Amino acid sequence: MKKLFEIKKLNMHYPIVDGLLGNVKGYVYALNNVDLEIFENEILGLVGESGSGKSTLGNCVLKLIEPTSGEVIFNGENILNKKKKDLKEFRKKAQLIFQNPYMSLNPRMKIYDILKEPFIVHKIKDCDDAIKKIIKLIGMDEEVLSRYPHEFSGGQRQRIAIARAIILNPEFIVADEPVSALDVSIQAQIINLLIELKEHLNLTMLFISHDLSIIKYISDRVAVMYLGEIVEIASKDEFFCNHKHPYTEALLNAVPVISEEKTKKIILEGDLPSPSNPPSGCKFHTRCPYVMDKCRIEHPELKELAPNHKVRCFLCDKNLK
Ligand code: SF4
Repeated sequence: MKKLFEIKKLNMHYPIVDGLLGNVKGYVYALNNVDLEIFENEILGLVGESGSGKSTLGNCVLKLIEPTSGEVIFNGENILNKKKKDLKEFRKKAQLIFQNPYMSLNPRMKIYDILKEPFIVHKIKDCDDAIKKIIKLIGMDEEVLSRYPHEFSGGQRQRIAIARAIILNPEFIVADEPVSALDVSIQAQIINLLIELKEHLNLTMLFISHDLSIIKYISDRVAVMYLGEIVEIASKDEFFCNHKHPYTEALLNAVPVISEEKTKKIILEGDLPSPSNPPSGCKFHTRCPYVMDKCRIEHPELKELAPNHKVRCFLCDKNLK
């Protein structure tokens, strides 16, 4: 499989500034040495609790925010080294679908003008045919082009937002919780649309969600984030059948299932620690039922347990070859 993205040692540390004097009094450690590969034509699901750094990672990969350090290599080029004026081609190839379709569409613009905007930004003429084609592709009629966003439901607005994201034929999409603001009855339609578009347009996708049932449905591989770190990454089958990290286990245990079977479960207790004051050693040690003395002091590396399966936990060390 060809790598579309290679993310190396990516850090995003937001300074906490003293209001009066402007002194930096600490940092929010949103991303910490994130190493990640995204392969062509896959959907990589990214899960974790709110505040784990998922959206920050998505924004850094698109260079919508400037990371503190690290590399984001797209098609062989580190996009973090590129100046704003040299990013235009990348902006065409890599797009974002936002969480909230009520906020992401300009209420004063007709749908036609919303879809025309990317063509204006990239100085591309002759957009009429492309706009008509894309509106059909997302399952809507041409007549919607003359209407305003407020005339549509949340699901229809998200379809329009998706149309805007794919209208310039991108290679890569970050979908940041794209269905979490929608009714459950509509969520499946949008997820199925994204899967169809991925196949039809050969898209690669980073799909961010806190909902593991959606991640299971849509993803080819799954990565789990905890306090700005990847703690487990595996192919979907390996992830759901043979996960190893205690945090992954706790997340999966939180998904309701109808079962008679009574097994010992890890229940996630307490809140996510503050990313401005992360725990020493393993960042999960304050909530981990298997914590050992070593975990409080030493920081586990993300290690390969099997092909396509990496885990950051000392418990897995004994399984390593
Ligand atoms: Fe738990 Fe230790 Fe593994 Fe961290 S390294 S997840 S604290 S067992």
